[in-house]
Amino acid sequence: PNRVYGGLADQDRIFQNLYLGNSKKHGTPSYDLKTAMKIGDWYKTKEILLKGDTWIIDEIKASGLRGRGGAGFPSGLKWSFMNPPGWNKNVGPRYLVVNADEGEPGTCKDREIMRKEPHKLVEGCLVAGRAMNATAAYIYIRGEFYNEAVTLQHAINEAYEAGFLGPDACGTGYAFDVYIHRGMGAYVCGEETALIESLEGKAGKPRLKPPFPAGVGLFGRPSTVTNVETVAVAPTICRRGGKWFSGFGRERNAGTKLFCISGNVNEPCTVEEEMSITLRELIDKHCGGVKGGWDNLLAVIPGGSSTPLLNKDTCDDILMDYDALRDAGSGLGTAAVIVFNKQADVLRGIQRLLAFYKHESCGQCTPCREGSTYLSKMMDRFYVGQAQEKEIDKALELTKKVEGHSICAMGEAFSWPYQGLVKNFKPLMIERIREYKRQNGLEDGGMQY
Ligand code: SF4
Repeated sequence: PNRVYGGLADQDRIFQNLYLGNSKKHGTPSYDLKTAMKIGDWYKTKEILLKGDTWIIDEIKASGLRGRGGAGFPSGLKWSFMNPPGWNKNVGPRYLVVNADEGEPGTCKDREIMRKEPHKLVEGCLVAGRAMNATAAYIYIRGEFYNEAVTLQHAINEAYEAGFLGPDACGTGYAFDVYIHRGMGAYVCGEETALIESLEGKAGKPRLKPPFPAGVGLFGRPSTVTNVETVAVAPTICRRGGKWFSGFGRERNAGTKLFCISGNVNEPCTVEEEMSITLRELIDKHCGGVKGGWDNLLAVIPGGSSTPLLNKDTCDDILMDYDALRDAGSGLGTAAVIVFNKQADVLRGIQRLLAFYKHESCGQCTPCREGSTYLSKMMDRFYVGQAQEKEIDKALELTKKVEGHSICAMGEAFSWPYQGLVKNFKPLMIERIREYKRQNGLEDGGMQY
């Protein structure tokens, strides 16, 4: 692979207390302001704010930071949409909305930030808010994250008491408030327009775009919805320079990234690593390897449950970054790596994911509402083998019809895991159907709905 990777040194970690790899170095959670300041949070924040919106956005652009919530859109460019030429700063509030509604199976990186280094997020709100001239930040946190919401609120209270937030944030004359809003457990509220609807007190159903939030967002005001990790790394990038951050990884895939690795590895963990590390190195170095060894690997979902899985041959030297995973037919997504070894039932895994998406569809669009229900039922039958072989392609055809025909990306989110399964494990699906037929003395897999 064409990359230069020397291993991420401890001093280059942005999240110094999240290192949960197999070295057992868990660090001391910096819940309180005093500990947070000891590891460098809130250092020279005033100077950063005084340098102004253009300077902050230029640093973020230079860093090559791309949104860490899954889409990978360049952050500096996205933030700059809030300050179009000729915008009038005297015409009312503007908002930074932080998406902390982390609810996808396998993804647990933002939760770690809020649990262990909440001040990074609070300071990040201020810096990102200043960049986009926002008057306040709303952190929309997943309802199930009760403890994290308490930890975060404590950090916000401390920041107010220290004068870092409020009408004269850090003594700069810039007025900025931070609020927490707890969700109620709907996965779809992680979609930015559904999140805005929910914050406004309505049912969390995605809106059609355009208009985009930067034009008409929260309460009808210009807003930008940004992921927790993206916001939390902004102050360190400003302190150490965009060039420092872009020195990690490779072109278009810069920086460090939180990876959360689960499934059949010896030691599941959430760890910060350099972008473009190989998957194998990531698992071997931080998770003690795949259970049963690398040769016992069956498949990997590389970027959260909505990215198509990859088979072992593809995984052998794949780089963990946006471009390499896209070229391999999958995606980096949230960098939630779910590992299947040869003892795992990959059909069972995908069955459970499709049941999740069926449950979480908001029901607005027919292709998503009906498609997710149909596909989940089909997958229930493929799992036990009670189906006809031709139905595998029939369901695949359905996913192609759903893609691009729904209001939000949920249509793709449940279509891609099934497509990845068929692409890599169709023979296994066929064998499951034939086995069922043999065991039950049926001609062709029995019932068809
Ligand atoms: Fe709702 Fe699904 Fe349509 Fe998204 S794609 S708006 S979740 S029905």
